[in-house]
Amino acid sequence: MASKSRWADTADDAAVEAKLKREKEEKKRIKAEKARKAAEEEAKRKAQAEAQQRAAQAQAENEAANDDNANRPSAKRRKLTPEPGANEGEAAAKTTTDGESAKLLRFEAPGTGTWGPSRSVENYDKLNDIEEGAYGWVARAREISTGKVVALKRLKLDSSGRAGLPETGLREIQILKDCAHRNVVSLQEVVVGDDTTLGRIENIFLVLEFLEHDLKSVLEDMPEPFLASEVKTLLRQLASGVAYLHDHWVLHRDLKTSNLLLNNRGTLKIADFGMARYVGDPPPPKLTQLVVTLWYRAPELLLGIKTYGTAVDMWSVGCVFGELLTREPLLQGANEVDELTRIFELCGIPTEDSWPGFRRLPHARSLRLPSSSKQNAAATGSVIRARFPLLTTAGSALLSALLSLNPDARPSARDMLLHEYFRQDPKPKHEALFPTFPSKAGQERRRRRETPNAPGRGQPAELGSVDFSGIFANREKEERGGGFALRMV
Ligand code: ADP
Repeated sequence: MASKSRWADTADDAAVEAKLKREKEEKKRIKAEKARKAAEEEAKRKAQAEAQQRAAQAQAENEAANDDNANRPSAKRRKLTPEPGANEGEAAAKTTTDGESAKLLRFEAPGTGTWGPSRSVENYDKLNDIEEGAYGWVARAREISTGKVVALKRLKLDSSGRAGLPETGLREIQILKDCAHRNVVSLQEVVVGDDTTLGRIENIFLVLEFLEHDLKSVLEDMPEPFLASEVKTLLRQLASGVAYLHDHWVLHRDLKTSNLLLNNRGTLKIADFGMARYVGDPPPPKLTQLVVTLWYRAPELLLGIKTYGTAVDMWSVGCVFGELLTREPLLQGANEVDELTRIFELCGIPTEDSWPGFRRLPHARSLRLPSSSKQNAAATGSVIRARFPLLTTAGSALLSALLSLNPDARPSARDMLLHEYFRQDPKPKHEALFPTFPSKAGQERRRRRETPNAPGRGQPAELGSVDFSGIFANREKEERGGGFALRMV
């Protein structure tokens, strides 16, 4: 309480002082009221703007989801989410430090459009394991209240002991939440384990639409390869999903047959966004090179490029194309050096003409390549044609283009959709006529041959200075039974 003024000697003085005080308080009250109103107005304005933005975004996504039309121009690109940062680390820093992200587990409740704490996994009954390995756990489950069958994928939590999701998990949720396309798996909600206590979440699960198969298991088990018309149906759907992702500034960075799901109605959907991220145009200057499972990894990544773009996914699409034709992964390198060797044998040796600037890539500086490389058969596409003798001219032109060493020479996913390969006979088979396969995921765990994982989940091999100058001669030797080894220089 204020002490009595030493000047307020008389009753009049006291009255005047009291009046002044009242006036001052009134002014203060009016000022506070004004500030409160202004804050309210500002909040209202912000909420309106956000609602408008959300509505516009939902509409754009809707349009894109419905737009399976291959003729859409590639120049029309929309950015749904602001670029999180110039380099990989920033996104993680942002999501873990700002107040909004601290409430990450308040996701939109399904069907309500409202935000609230994530529901418990106890709302689902586990039916069977689909995949349980060193890197993750996926199960088939049924939502108790609706009876709907879903796939539950447990996210890997930070192994460093810090409470929270690693950056990959945050990105996977964010990107899946933003995506709506018939060839991208849909995320229904995020749920938490029942062992969750206040302030500590032990288990986080993605609730995904369930698909009966993944392409890798189908390819391994099918007695006969896909027909040409079936390869086209699958490839066109893959290109359509990838085009949607790239239009929305998402790089998947781990496209491979085990991440492509297939339902019994012949629909293919891209899954596993654990390696995916948003990029801008131009792409951030420092992106991690440790992406994409080795057998599907583009040569520019193997050569240590720091700024890369959508072409890394298109290389993987080329590898999937080859695998659809033969049922075997196309480039099964034992390590990074061996992977590059196999790539050069299939696609030719890069030259400054075919791939301007490749020499400046970090690991290319120390490569010793054959000088007569321009004449080598692989560079002309004849090795690809010989390896896929049943592929039409248009098909092998598309495959060769996707497997261009120079990333700029690879077609975009939108370009690919327009390729004549899809227009020529045999035409892509209608999805409804697609063959069905017995679903392993429906009854039992999927058992597969070992394949490498994306490098974030394993240890990358070191690419030192490598001498490729003898690879073609060495290959001849190997064909004669002599074996070959690369020399490290
Ligand atoms: P990880 O990040 O651990 O590799 P993925 O998302 O790739 O996990 O899933 C691993 C496997 O689980 C896939 O290869 C597929 O066989 C199966 N799977 C993943 N999502 C689904 C789904 N929505 N429906 C059915 N099976 C799925």
